[in-house]
Amino acid sequence: MGLKRLGVLGWPVDHSRSPAMQNAALAATGLDGAFVYERLAVSPDAFPETVAGLPAAGFAGVNVTIPHKEAALALATAVSADARAIGAANTLTFGPGEGAVRADNTDAPGLLDALGEPAPRTALVLGAGGSARAVAYALRGAGAAVAVWNRNPERARAIAADIGVAAVTGPIAAEVLVNCTSVGLRDPAQTFKEIPVNADDLGEYACVVDLVYRDGGTELLRQAERRGCRCVDGLEILVRQGARSFQIWTGRSAPLDVMRRAARGEQPSQLPPSATGRLGGRGGP
Ligand code: NDP
Repeated sequence: MGLKRLGVLGWPVDHSRSPAMQNAALAATGLDGAFVYERLAVSPDAFPETVAGLPAAGFAGVNVTIPHKEAALALATAVSADARAIGAANTLTFGPGEGAVRADNTDAPGLLDALGEPAPRTALVLGAGGSARAVAYALRGAGAAVAVWNRNPERARAIAADIGVAAVTGPIAAEVLVNCTSVGLRDPAQTFKEIPVNADDLGEYACVVDLVYRDGGTELLRQAERRGCRCVDGLEILVRQGARSFQIWTGRSAPLDVMRRAARGEQPSQLPPSATGRLGGRGGP
């Protein structure tokens, strides 16, 4: 059997750390002769047609990221219960059989993996986009009482109604605070102006999770660490969802430490030259 292709589809996708992380995992498990993981820039317009062509191009499965997670769910022929309830998929697996596409959501279990046992009893989730939906769903499923805050409160109320959690218009104390907004990504100095929690109040949360990751870390986690909170950063969340996807495609346990180091750029990327290519020129510049 030839080399099977895996990959990540996004728009933009240039900065994804998944190729380095997944190729390092494949190498560490001796599967680099069986699979290669590529980066595919695919515009929303080209997404359905591109995905339809992936199995014939040798792909066994792909991750999908912004802005394709809802579209990925829509084109699947089989959908996991998690992906259905969240309304988004980040992992597609092709076959068995022509035209079969299974959609999974590994963001939700990946968050719980990152938090570890026991699951928190209470959580405050900031944000109401795709990642907030997966996080709120995962935490509620693990038995937590979840409150969702969002800049646009209507979107928080929509998540609350869909997932069976509470919507709040201001901060509340909880065991875990999870930032699922994009606040902190571009301008760290704005962080505490754009979320409803003050830096001085972070000590009310035993654990602070920031889905955002950036070189040098985020201001939210820097302040949380200073106040003694347990901190989980966005790269750990990325690693954990990637580990779940790796297991779905290969049937093997993922080498977490290898993936962590690769995601953090602590070892040379094992991305082969071909892994930055596109699919027949479709889907992007
Ligand atoms: P979405 O675009 O779906 O949602 C963005 C959210 O951020 C919305 O709730 C939006 O609020 C809020 N927001 C944006 N700007 C501001 C602001 N200035 N002030 C307050 N709130 C703001 O994104 P996702 O849910 O997909 O992702 C959110 C973040 O998480 C991104 O930065 C992404 O990179 C990161 N992420 C990390 C992952 C990981 O593996 N570590 C996985 C997935 C996402 P409103 O509704 O009011 O516009």
